[in-house]
Amino acid sequence: MLMEKERQDIIYYSQKMAESGLTKGTGGNISVYDRELGYVAITPSAVDYDELKPEDIAIVKLDGTQVEGDYLPSSEKDMHLLCYKKRDDIQAVVHTHSLYAIIMACLHEEIPPVHYLIGFAKGRVKCIPYYPFGSMELAIAASEGLEDKNAVLLGNHGLLAVGADVKHAYSVAEIIEFVAEIYYKTSLKGAPQILSDDDMEEVYCRFDAYRKSKPSS
Ligand SMILES: [Zn+2]
Repeated sequence: MLMEKERQDIIYYSQKMAESGLTKGTGGNISVYDRELGYVAITPSAVDYDELKPEDIAIVKLDGTQVEGDYLPSSEKDMHLLCYKKRDDIQAVVHTHSLYAIIMACLHEEIPPVHYLIGFAKGRVKCIPYYPFGSMELAIAASEGLEDKNAVLLGNHGLLAVGADVKHAYSVAEIIEFVAEIYYKTSLKGAPQILSDDDMEEVYCRFDAYRKSKPSS
């Protein structure tokens, strides 16, 4: 079986995504790219996360051809594949339907740096217009909308997060949902103070220093 470890990781984070409320039902999807093998492991289409088994995870090439898996890959596979084609610094994509990210996406508003944790996305999170789910138009707009950031809002739909590995991409999705909630709720109370570009530059420096201070495992 190809990409066994990645299949296990995808099942673990898919179930965590569902249990933590980052998505509802079978919405959302997760993939991991092995650049040496040239294969992407991705959640299957329309299978309950709590019933996922390793053999259910689809393995596809970057051109979309399915190599292994008992089910069809996620209907958003093109969005995942285009992200890997555009960005050589990412190995995982997490797409969620989390509540506060969706509220912002339905308002077609970006999430500004209201809290330093938005540094996980590398700054403000833009929102692309609405495109039908599973469409190539959505895949193109989402992968282009990411630019060099780690997250983008999908208009009237949800959140797309990317990372160096699946743990990182999941953290981006989880934290940007938290920042979206902070921004939405503080906006109800008043006008939240937004961090400046200089403030965020310092955050990135501190993130780097923090990363370097952790023992490598
Ligand atoms: Zn979706």
